[in-house]
Amino acid sequence: MVTLENIHKYYEVGANKLHVLKGLDMTIEEGELVSIMGSSGSGKSTLLNILGILDDYDKGTYSLNYTPMKNLSQTKAAYYRNQFIGFVFQSFNLLSFKNAMENVALPLYYQKVPRKERNKIALEYLDRVGLREWAEHSPNEMSGGQRQRVAIARALISKPKVILADEPTGALDTKTSEEVMEIFKEVNREGMTVIIVTHENDVANQTQRVIRLKDGNIISH
Ligand code: ADP
Ligand code: MG
Repeated sequence: MVTLENIHKYYEVGANKLHVLKGLDMTIEEGELVSIMGSSGSGKSTLLNILGILDDYDKGTYSLNYTPMKNLSQTKAAYYRNQFIGFVFQSFNLLSFKNAMENVALPLYYQKVPRKERNKIALEYLDRVGLREWAEHSPNEMSGGQRQRVAIARALISKPKVILADEPTGALDTKTSEEVMEIFKEVNREGMTVIIVTHENDVANQTQRVIRLKDGNIISH
């Protein structure tokens, strides 16, 4: 499903080049539930953004679903992202001027699904994450855990092959984190590949495999 071979990534910082990923090799099979751990600055978000085709890399090969993801046009990148990837962020990234249902429906809006149809599907996904009754509420009327569940429903609605989550429980308390992890585990049981970046051992312990990053290298997997 996900294959990295000798991936290098540099950031230009003024006149300097910062070597952030230093030749990563890894494979994640379809249906795995994996966590990525490592201290702050080790390159976790950089790696996840490459996996999510939000950012490019400088050397090596990244293949997603057996297709190389390199030098893609904006249009192609967007196409693969919509086809394959669901992203969940620590800070939820919901639109505050849209209600929960409209937030969940947003990916279908970009796919030009008519409003009635996309809202109906959004309600089904809200129901999945236990928030059917919150459809008309705006994100700022909801708790952190509820917002993250809305964000997960939004990630699921386009039926991605892979869910990528960057510290999805980082802003949540223990109990709410558990609710969020239950949803990830459930969608994984149904066959979806789930990759979670986390600082928390409690979260990593619930995954099948931990990939550890240190200073831009994989030290165990
Ligand atoms: P993590 O998510 O593990 O905390 P990041 O992938 O965010 O790590 O960052 C890895 C390194 O790259 C850090 O040293 C960070 O400061 C640097 N970095 C991240 N994004 C950028 C950027 N857009 N420009 C320059 N340096 C960056
Ligand atoms: Mg990060």
